[in-house]
Formats: sequence, structure tokens, C-alpha cells
Amino acid sequence: MSRVEQVIKERCEVYPDSPCLFFEGVTWTRRELDQAADRCEASLVSAGFTVGQRLVTMMPNCPAVLALSIAVWRLGGTVVPLNAKAGRELLGAALGLLDPFAVMVMTGMEELASAIESQGVPASVVSPFGEITPFSGRTGLPESEDLAVIFATSGTTGMPKAVPITHRNLLNNICTVKDHVTTLREDGEDIALNVLPNFHTFGFCLSGTLPLVLGYPQVILPSFLPPARTVEAIYSHKVSVIIAVPTIVALICEVVARSNMAPPDSLNMVVCGGAPLDLRLHQRAERLLGVPIHEGYGLTECSPVVGAAHDRAGFRPGQIGPVMEGYEIQLRDREGKLLEGNEGVLWLRGPSVTSGYFRSPEATAQRFDKDGWFNTGDVIRFDEDGYLTVLDRDTDIIIVGGFNVYPQEVENVLASFQGVKEAAVVGTPHGLSGEVPKAFVVLQEGASVEPRDLISFCKERLSHYKVPRKVEFVEELPRSAIGKVLRRTLRDLERSRFAGKKA
Ligand code: ATP
Repeated sequence: MSRVEQVIKERCEVYPDSPCLFFEGVTWTRRELDQAADRCEASLVSAGFTVGQRLVTMMPNCPAVLALSIAVWRLGGTVVPLNAKAGRELLGAALGLLDPFAVMVMTGMEELASAIESQGVPASVVSPFGEITPFSGRTGLPESEDLAVIFATSGTTGMPKAVPITHRNLLNNICTVKDHVTTLREDGEDIALNVLPNFHTFGFCLSGTLPLVLGYPQVILPSFLPPARTVEAIYSHKVSVIIAVPTIVALICEVVARSNMAPPDSLNMVVCGGAPLDLRLHQRAERLLGVPIHEGYGLTECSPVVGAAHDRAGFRPGQIGPVMEGYEIQLRDREGKLLEGNEGVLWLRGPSVTSGYFRSPEATAQRFDKDGWFNTGDVIRFDEDGYLTVLDRDTDIIIVGGFNVYPQEVENVLASFQGVKEAAVVGTPHGLSGEVPKAFVVLQEGASVEPRDLISFCKERLSHYKVPRKVEFVEELPRSAIGKVLRRTLRDLERSRFAGKKA
């Protein structure tokens, strides 16, 4: 079968009465989800939706996201999940690029609906269970090929990019994870936690769609905040699979540790990805949650490509695992020239890699070559055993007098200092060396640490040019909607301070 909604339908026909999702005290069987998708489909048809069109959803995680997606796929359309809190400017740019048939927002977001309508795009309000307020969509739109979803990238390095994913990409993505993570079970044996924002590829594909395709139920939470509610849901619903980003894993661990809880008996596995997972958090999570933490690496353009190195002896921070079946890889230099060694910028080709950005030939030309190779923008190292370590993002590397500094390496050292909660390291302009590392550090509650202690600690563990010249303590680090640290915000801050000093 080559389409996602067909696989979901088949699961429903085989096990119509098994539980499919839990949301705010309500349980739906697979038949009930199917019926909700029927109702959404009927509403979309009467609004004029047709094959090849795009429907934007802007809502927190809820059953309606799944029902609407299935309905859109049945009608041969493309679903575009966007972050409802992305801000007016981003929203305007996204709507302009995407040309959607309409935007669906959650009950209670009527103000957002009016703002969207003022931009000439129809909007309709949907309840969390998929009842759609009648509306009319736009007609005469250009149609695109058979795409399942268009995702926005996280915007960590700049403006988010629109990534089209076909049904084949999405099914391949799910099957590759299933084959690679052998502890994932099928047909109702697992219960997944769907807490990652469904507007991100990781949340939509692996938290929302994967359980539907593999046939096990999911507990849907509209947000991972407050973390105590997330933990309560894990214990009360006997969740066995958690797919999360490091920020969510850290929050879950804090609650479990604070409440002195035993690890949840039901838990079978945790997959953590989307951003670097530091070794200390990795070990803490395995201890508190009582299961292996599989680390996954991927990008919106091709997630996921590697994972699961947790159970090896001699595990090192950043070491993710072997590349999944079916992917070809190359290491290149920053100019795109093929490298012989085992360290360089990772380029990929494979079954879930998109063919380019949506209606953005220039951005596509920057990251894809004519043979379909995609530049991940991540500098990685292959260890002797074929395991991959993500060293850092190409754009975040600090060049100190010609020497490369990977901020991640410095951050790992800082995070291992007693009393440090987390750290972000960026380059700050420097007259002689071009730039030098500067650390922004968040301390644990009640900790008392001096910058000079941290600098001496780094000097004992790192080459001199990698040691931060300055340490600034901050309350928290800037993060994207999915919880990734935004180093570029700190870098911009440093640059503007430097420019201010010079002026
Ligand atoms: P944008 O492309 O808009 O700048 P983004 O790169 O954060 O945002 P995503 O597709 O969400 O968009 O994230 C992919 C990136 O996340 C990867 O290129 C990599 O830098 C990082 N990443 C993902 N998983 C891991 C991991 N396990 N360890 C380290 N980094 C990771």
C-alpha cells in the first residue's frame, strides 16, 4: 500500500473496536476515529475541497488533527500543520507561499481565524474532536502533486522552510523506524504518548501518525506543559512508548525525581531526538525512567536517518548510532567537495528525503545537488564501528584564529560542572582571533558558581582555543517552539553588543 490513509483504514477494518486514542477523559476506538474522519471529509467536500489542494491546520495536539489529516488524504489533498503561536509575520509569509484552500483553527482561537481571513484566506473553527463550523474554501487554486504533508522546519538557523513530504516519504519514515527500533511492538501492544507538537515533523510523523499506521493507541496531550500532567498521563494510561525532544525528557525527569516516583512499570522505550541530548541527561533519564533512551537524529527534510546507540559500551556524548537501512551518505567540506576522511558535513540520499523545498527553487538549489543529494548542514564524525556522532551545525561552528570549535563539545564540558543546569556557547567577535567562544550558562536552583570556576574547569579539559573567554549567567536559554536552543539569538545579541561598543 502506498498511501498513509489506506494503511490506517486497513488497521481500522481489522481491529475496529480496539482503542485508538485517549484525549481529556475520552477514549476513541479505531472505528470512532474513522467516523470522525468521515465527518471531516464530508465537511471539506461541501466546502469545495478537492484533490491537490492544501489545508492548513493550526491547533494544539488533539484528535481533530488526526481526523482532519486522514480526511485530507482521502480527498487527495495535502495537510500543512503550522504553529498557531508562530506570530503574524511568519503566518503571513507561510500563507502567501502555501496558497491554502483554508485554515482550520481550534475552538477558542476565533481571533486568529479573523486575522487569517483578513489576509484573504478562509478560516474555520474546529472542535478538538473534529466538528467543523461550515465554511467555504478558495477555488481555482493551483494544485500540487500527490503530497501528504508540508512541514515547516524549526527555524533554528533562520526563517523556517516549507518541506513537502510525499505519502511514500512518510510511510518509509515510519517503516524505517519500526525496522530499526526493534523494541517497538505492533497491534495494540504499545501505548504511545503524543505530546510533541504535531506541527513539527517529529511530532506529526512519529507521535501522531506512527501509532495509527502500526496499530497501537496513543494518549494525546495538547501540550507538554505543565510537566506534572504529562507525567500523570504516563503513569495513569500506562504509556509504553515516549517520543520526545531533550527538553521534554528533562521536564519529565524533574517531576519524577521531585516526586520520588519509581520508574513507570509500563514503559518499554523512550526515543529522544531533534536536538543534542547531553550525556548527563541521558544517564539521568535512563536511571529515573528505568528504560533505554534511544537517541534519534533526523531533519524535517528527511527524518529520521539514524538512531539507537544507547546500549553500547563506551557510549560518547553526541554518538547517535548507525545510519538506517536504505540511506546513502557522503561527507563533504563546507564548499560541497567530497571528503576522504571520517569527519565532515553530512549529505544524504534516501527514501524519506524530500526532493526540495516547496516553491523555493533558490533555497532548494542551496541545499540539494542535481543528483538528489541533500546537505544536512550538520558536521558529523564516523567512528570506526560506523556509528555517527553529530559534532554540530555547520553554521554554529566558531572559528578561533583558524581553528574550529564545536560549541556542543564546550557545552558538554560546562554541563558536567556541578551546579550547571545547561549552557549554550556561541562565537563573539574578537579583534585578533576573529571570534572567540562565549558561554551563556543557566545554573541549577540555589547553585553558586563563579565564571572563573567554569573557565578553569574548561581549561583542564579543553584545548586553550576552545575555552570560553567569557561566561554570562542567564535565567534561561532562548528556545524554539519545539524546545531547541536558539544559538543564533545569542549570537545576534553578542554581535549587536559588539557593534554598540564600537559605535
Ligand atoms: P531550520 O532548518 O529552520 O534552521 P532546524 O534545522 O532546527 O531548523 P529541524 O528539521 O527541526 O529544523 O531540525 C533538524 C536539525 O536538528 C538537524 O540538522 C540537527 O542539527 C538537529 N538534530 C536533530 N536530531 C539531533 C540529535 N539527535 N542530535 C543532535 N542534533 C540533532
